[in-house]
Amino acid sequence: MKSNFYHINTFMGMDKSYEESNLIVFGVGFDGTTSNRPGARFASSSMRKEFYGLETYSPFLDLDLEDYNICDYGDLEISVGDTEQVLKEIYDETASIVEDLKVPFMIGGEHLVTLAAFKAVYEKYNDVYVIHFDAHTDLREEYNNNKNSHATVIKRVWDIVGDDKIFQFGIRSGTREEFKFAIEQKHTYMEVGGINTFEKIINKLNGKNVYLTVDLDVLDASVFPGTGTPEPGGINYREFQDIFKIIKKSNINIVGCDIVELSPDYDTTGVSTVIACKVLRELCLIISSKFR
Ligand code: MN
Ligand code: MN
Repeated sequence: MKSNFYHINTFMGMDKSYEESNLIVFGVGFDGTTSNRPGARFASSSMRKEFYGLETYSPFLDLDLEDYNICDYGDLEISVGDTEQVLKEIYDETASIVEDLKVPFMIGGEHLVTLAAFKAVYEKYNDVYVIHFDAHTDLREEYNNNKNSHATVIKRVWDIVGDDKIFQFGIRSGTREEFKFAIEQKHTYMEVGGINTFEKIINKLNGKNVYLTVDLDVLDASVFPGTGTPEPGGINYREFQDIFKIIKKSNINIVGCDIVELSPDYDTTGVSTVIACKVLRELCLIISSKFR
């Protein structure tokens, strides 16, 4: 008998079992090192509600969630207040997902969560390139006396992968030293403020394993005010759509992905949450379409 009930706590179109799915979506409601305005811990729960306003079909990509095996695994239970323990919990969970040869797709939370998920993916595949969208460099050595912070996360990723592996787009905020580290010293590739060189870089990464980390504050503050550290001068959603198209037709192998830093309650219109949902849908579709 067909059930007349549905679960509003599961992302629509992502209701397959863990076993049958290639793509595992999970939330991590952690915002313990957020420096400015906390609240990213509420991202995945508000997104699950809002997602019901979307269609499962993307006319832009001509792909439909219904055609793929995607599992919304729920939100990870974390030891709130203990950053190191939370990182371990994310690492362990992600490691078990990649061990099962599935692709982890994490919804933060603040950006520090990326460090633990990336580490697990890196240890599985070793040769992994990082594509990073953000308004912020996230290359500080430490912040508020913390080595592990959402302001240092990409520097910690660099500690793992070293030079020539990290590609940063949309960046428009950080210290002079951070920009020097990226641009003059070339420890990472960085495009300041925009995404014009994205297609060229993606073509270079043809056939490579890629971890994609999307800090949603890469979008302009007027487009996406629902975030802890909004920054003017960012890209609009249409430009982000172009990015999706480029990734879709590329030949990169996405082995892990996350979207972070939605802090839903700072945007009382709820539009930021809708945008985050749409980014989630498009990226899930693109990653899934590459399994075929
Ligand atoms: Mn960030
Ligand atoms: Mn940011």
